[in-house]
This record gives sequence, structure tokens and C-alpha cells, in this order.
Amino acid sequence: MTERRIYLDPDPLDPRSRKIDVRASQWYATVVLDRDEYVYVATPRGHSPELPIAYMEAVDRACSASMDRIYYDGYPGGFVWGSGPSWITLFAQFSQVETAVEALRAAEMDHDYTKLHAFADSLALPVNDWLAPGERELVRGIDFHSSPSVFLRFLRNKAKGYGLRLNGRATAGSVWVRPTLPFIAKEIRERFPEQHPGWVDRWTDYVDSDAAPIRPWIGGREQDLSYGAKPVQFRAAKIPELDSCRCGMRLRGSSDDRKAHATHHTAWEFGIRVPKNLMWLSDLAIITTESPIAWRKLAYKMARWPQVENHYDFRSWSHLDEPEVTPDNLRAYLLQANDSVIGYLAAHDTNEHRHWDLADDSQYDGEDDTLRPRINLIWVAGTYRHQGIGGTLVRALADDFGCDIADVSWSNPISDAGRRLARRLSPAGVWVS
Ligand SMILES: [Zn+2]
Repeated sequence: MTERRIYLDPDPLDPRSRKIDVRASQWYATVVLDRDEYVYVATPRGHSPELPIAYMEAVDRACSASMDRIYYDGYPGGFVWGSGPSWITLFAQFSQVETAVEALRAAEMDHDYTKLHAFADSLALPVNDWLAPGERELVRGIDFHSSPSVFLRFLRNKAKGYGLRLNGRATAGSVWVRPTLPFIAKEIRERFPEQHPGWVDRWTDYVDSDAAPIRPWIGGREQDLSYGAKPVQFRAAKIPELDSCRCGMRLRGSSDDRKAHATHHTAWEFGIRVPKNLMWLSDLAIITTESPIAWRKLAYKMARWPQVENHYDFRSWSHLDEPEVTPDNLRAYLLQANDSVIGYLAAHDTNEHRHWDLADDSQYDGEDDTLRPRINLIWVAGTYRHQGIGGTLVRALADDFGCDIADVSWSNPISDAGRRLARRLSPAGVWVS
């Protein structure tokens, strides 16, 4: 299929000319009417450039009929498009591209919306018949044309929109269906009819006729274990309001957010997998700004978990260009266990410190200009907390620098967890910077 541009106005060089762009993707073509400049120029200041309602309705019908067809063909993905008067998008099967282009052209240039409606009508699928109540066998080649498993997936999605349970099964050449309406779906639709315009309960009181076909039994559980069941009761309950998880991610959100959270949370809990291309000669690795890029990338990756957990604006590691010497000797200590990196300490050296006796309400005192290693941040994976790993990291920092643990400096402000750790490691007080 060729990608192309069709100009609708006489002078194609005029940037205001409306045009239709046809672009192909794997399953379908996208036909976009670009009226952006045209709308901009044609709209007097202070007017909103709305499309006529009849135009929008015709486009919506055409678009949804066409998307249904593409799903019915087996397309497993989704569609993304903008709305508004500047761009009008139709998705079309490759065989329908010409019809779609002409329907859009007629609607735009002649204000003739019948071709969009005709386009929608020609593509409409008998979903209402497919989802009619009662046990039925829909046969490939007679009732539908795509493969039975694709068709069943399509029907399941459609059934969801009607609130139905499909009780479907694909065979080699057919699909068995018995759509039923769960009590709760009926309840919701009847309570909020404005959200489900045109919905009518055809299923609840339906009784199969004696002539109904009998679905071959292929084993497995009984067909309808909810027959005669009583609806579940609901009560109000008080639950705590919790916005974000221990790992820092939001708890509310779409299913994509949930997936992203699950991935993030797993790494937060168990650490991130040690990359296969990195050889560890021991459990603790010291990454400097001069280390090979794969190691610096690993430090950068680790820095994400404390950043999200504590809602910091910046990551504590950012050296991802060529190796370079940093005057303050910036470095990261990475600790691994069970093939995962589970501990991270970011540090550098500095020589401006105050002393703090670690009492909650006491002031810092005693200025000090000794060069000391300074902890920027410590992070330990969730599962490994409260087991002395923070102490191990601080000790590694002190050993590496060649000082005592009481000589390291802690970056101010020290978090609650940091205070607990400091009191344990250095009960007489710490340096703060
Ligand atoms: Zn979480």
C-alpha cells in the first residue's frame, strides 16, 4: 500500500490547503484529513472552530465501525488519535482506503456526510445478533469470517461493553456462545441509564427453546455454577486513604500504571538484576566517574529507586558521558546479593563540616575543615532492610577512604532512617555537611 497525500484545495502549494494523508501500519491504514492551517486562517478571532455536529457524528460512526472491522480482522493492539477540528482521523482496512478518502473528501468539501454514513453502514458488524441471548453455534464462513479464536476474542470485548458474560468456546470451525447478564451488570446499567444509552436487557428473562442446539461437552467444570445464586451483599466500610506505596509509586492509576508499579516495586523489593555483561569479582563494587560506562549506567539505574521512593527531583548519579575526573571524587558503592544489586551508597569528598551529637533538638557545633568522605544518599532494597546493610555500606565508604566510621560526614538533612543508622554506627555523634 502506498503512502500518499491528496490535496483538496486547488493550490497545493498554499500552506492553507487542506490535505488527506494516507499512512500504512501493519494492520490498517490511517487516513487523516489535515485542516490545521485552514482552520487557523478561516477562524475569525474569538470564534471557536467547531465542526458541525452532523459532521462529527458521521466521522464518529465511520471511525468506530472501521475500528471494529480491524479488530474483527484480528488486530491485537489499540488506536490512538486526537480529536478536534484540525485533524480528522479514520482508520481503514487496506481495502477500504479509497472509500474512506472519498467519504472524508465529500464531507469536507461538499458537506455531504452520506458517504461517511454509507462507509459506516457497509462495515457494520451484526454484533447485536451475535450477542443475542441463548445458546448458539456461530459457524465460520456463515456467521463470521475471521478465525474462531480471533472472533471469540473480538466477541468477548464486545460482550464486556454490554455487561455480558459470553460463556464462549472456539472450536476448529465455529464459536459457541451463550451470553448471560450478571446481576451486577444489570443493576449498574439500570441504575445509571444515562451512561448506557440504548441498552436494553434482552438476556435476564430469556429461556432457551427446546430446539436450542446442545454444546458438545468436552469435560471441565459444570457450565453454570451461578445458576440460582443469590447476589452478593455490599456494606460501606472505612478504609485508610493511602496514596502512595512504600516504594514511592502512586497506588491509584490505570492498569498500565499498575503494571509499571509492579515492575518498579519488584525491583524496589528485591533489588535490580545484576546485568549479565558485568563481572563482579566480589560483592561490593566501587563505581567512580571514570569507570566503564556499563558500571556507571548501573549506578544511574540504582539511583532511580531512592529518587522515586523519596520523591527527589534529581538522581544522585548522573555521570553518563565520557569517563572524567571529578574534583570531589564522586563515587557509588553497589552491593550485590542473590544476583541483584540491593544496596547503593552515593558519596563524594568535602571539607566543610559541623559536628552534631545526634540529639533530636540539639544544634550543630564545631566547624571542621578536614577532608572527609560524605554520604549523599544510602538506599537498600526493601526486603534487605533492617539487617545492617546500611552499616556495611558506610563501613565500606570509611575503609575505602581510610578513615574510621565516626569520621565520615552525613549530608544534611539526615532522614529518620539515616539518624537511626548514624546513632547505631557512631553513637558519640557525627559530622554533618
Ligand atoms: Zn510499590
